[in-house]
Amino acid sequence: MNQKIVLLDSDQVIANLLDSWCGLYNSRYDDALSVEEFGGTWSGLQNIVKPECGEKVYDLMKEEGFFKNLQPLSGAVEGVRQLYDDKRTDLYIVTAYSGHPEMAKGKVEFYEEHFPYLIEDDRIVLCKPKQLFYGDVLVDDSIENLEKFYKHMTDVIGKHDFYTVAMGAPHNKDAMEKPCVDVRVDSWPELMEYITSVILD
Ligand SMILES: [Mg+2]
Repeated sequence: MNQKIVLLDSDQVIANLLDSWCGLYNSRYDDALSVEEFGGTWSGLQNIVKPECGEKVYDLMKEEGFFKNLQPLSGAVEGVRQLYDDKRTDLYIVTAYSGHPEMAKGKVEFYEEHFPYLIEDDRIVLCKPKQLFYGDVLVDDSIENLEKFYKHMTDVIGKHDFYTVAMGAPHNKDAMEKPCVDVRVDSWPELMEYITSVILD
């Protein structure tokens, strides 16, 4: 039986980046932005944070221990384990190196803490251009990543029977308007339902 190659992004698919990042900003700069506001602005955060913070909002993620201390999203621990154990899937986590050693280190430490079997089995790939990976499905909160994967699969590899899944986040509410997105799910239970009933069926 051909296994389905499942590629999972990490931040905001498995690890709850937004809650920690927003919380750290609010406590450090004595502000009260909601996760919805914080995540909804995403790449323009420097414009909504306090002026004394500005671009430094992105540096918060480079602090020692930041990625290590993220918490898995609700249902992620169980869902990832189920996908890993399922004989019909071949599972990989593909997450950006992020251009900073402390971030890369923290990401690996997060997996050592919550998903040690993925480390032991070489399932973690630190790489930003996810479209370079052949897969039957990519789950990502970034529409940009999904679009690059979609284009690479169709235009370069010539594969059309694959899936792109947007994991719901404040910054991708319009995901279903994009031709490169097959479905947007709001939670791990919804994601597992889609993968098991549509992709693995
Ligand atoms: Mg992400």
